[in-house]
Amino acid sequence: MPLRAAIRTIPDYPKQGILFRDITTLLGDARAFRKAVDDLVQPFAGAKIEKIAGIEARGFILGGAMAHQLSAGFIPIRKKGKLPHKTVSIAYELEYGTDEMEMHVDAVQPGERVVLVDDLIATGGTATGAIRLLKKLGAEVVAACFVIDLPDLGGARKIEALGVPVRALVAFE
Ligand code: 5GP
Repeated sequence: MPLRAAIRTIPDYPKQGILFRDITTLLGDARAFRKAVDDLVQPFAGAKIEKIAGIEARGFILGGAMAHQLSAGFIPIRKKGKLPHKTVSIAYELEYGTDEMEMHVDAVQPGERVVLVDDLIATGGTATGAIRLLKKLGAEVVAACFVIDLPDLGGARKIEALGVPVRALVAFE
C-alpha cells in the first residue's frame, strides 16, 4: 500500500475547518510503518549520523526506529518541564502564541551530525525551533525529515532558509 493511502484524514480536528492528517493508521500497518522508516533513513545509509532528534510525541516513534536502523543515538526534544536533567530551552511559534521546547544540555556534543524528525511539517514553527535548539548546543543539523509536508503552509522553505535540507515522504495540498 502506498504511504499516502495509509494516512487517515480526520475533518474538523482539533477544531472546525482543520483536516488533521492522522499517522496512527500508518504506524499500525506493519508494512507501511517499515516502508516509512526505510524511506526516511534511505538518504543516510552509509553516512556518519551520530544522533536522530525526535520532536515530542510522534517524532519519538519514527525517530526511535530510525536511530536503531542507522545505529545512531536518539535525542528527545520535549515540551517544557518534562525532562529531568539540566535543559536548554527555546520559545517557538504556534498558530496562536508561543510555547517552549527543551532538550538536555548534554544530549548532543558540538559538531555531532544530527538528523531531525517529526511526523508532519505545516508552518515550520516547531521544526525551526528544534533546529535552533540543536544548533545552540553546536550540533550540525544534516537534514530535517517528515512523513508529511503541507507545502501550501511554507514550512519546508523556512527550514531550507536555515541551511537545512528538508525531506518529506508525502505531500498534501
Ligand atoms: P508547524 O509547527 O509546522 O506548524 O506544525 C507541525 C507540528 O504540529 C508537528 O509537531 C505536528 O506533529 C503537528 N501537527 C500539525 N498539524 C498536524 C496534522 O494534521 N497531523 C499531524 N499528525 N500532526 C500535525
